Amino acid sequence: MRKPLIAGNWKMNTDSQSAAALARSISDQSPGYGAVDLLVCPPYCYLKTVSAVLAGGTVLLGAQDMFHEANGAFTGEISAAMLKDCGATHVILGHSERRHILGETDQAVNKKTLAAHQAGLIPIVCVGELLSEREAGQTAQVIRRQFDGSLAGLSAELMAATVIAYEPVWAIGTGKVATPQQAEEVHADLRKLIAERYNAATADRVRILYGGSVKPDNAAELLGQSDVDGALVGGASLKADDFLAIAAAGTLLAGDDVTRPQNA
Ligand code: PEP
Repeated sequence: MRKPLIAGNWKMNTDSQSAAALARSISDQSPGYGAVDLLVCPPYCYLKTVSAVLAGGTVLLGAQDMFHEANGAFTGEISAAMLKDCGATHVILGHSERRHILGETDQAVNKKTLAAHQAGLIPIVCVGELLSEREAGQTAQVIRRQFDGSLAGLSAELMAATVIAYEPVWAIGTGKVATPQQAEEVHADLRKLIAERYNAATADRVRILYGGSVKPDNAAELLGQSDVDGALVGGASLKADDFLAIAAAGTLLAGDDVTRPQNA
């Protein structure tokens, strides 16, 4: 069974004090949530602060983006090795805000995904359709195109170690959540696609998170879907109680019968 992952994307929020306090609150309460993996992704500049707070505990640390090059003249960018140096084990890539506000392409996400793995960071690669694409009946096509573009060139082993986040763009930060059936349909299709491109055993190992207005009151139903292996949480991850209430929904569903993916 895949161990659920509950990931908090803090986006461009918090300051050094509130980031440390939020991490402290989550970390202090984390022993009750051993059946799920908890991950927080603060802004770059607070990674070290949060890493120090999380030290010795089980809450994982991730970043919200990175550049694919290892070093050099790339003003304003940050590399996978630098993130690791700050204590990160995970990195969110291809978030819809980067795709649609900052113009990031599948090819750029692909380079970052390969570079993250090369450096030993676990990428959480986001895919998701716009409302207009859903309304035009193009959801499966868009997701498949993003999958093939963003995740090209991975071995089966690296694919299994990759986390995918299905985040319908129309559900992010809007309060409009996908129904559990809508989420499951896309997650099941993604898993089928992984089985087609690789094999069933690899598809069975990949964790596929749902993201888009996940809140304490809708988490249990979403996480109860058989192909939903956790959540990528934006707004609700900024309050420790809400984030942990979502984690509690995952914990209940996971029970104790969970195993950590080999390379997570
Ligand atoms: C996100 O930022 O990935 C996200 C899903 O945001 P929210 O939970 O606020 O919709």
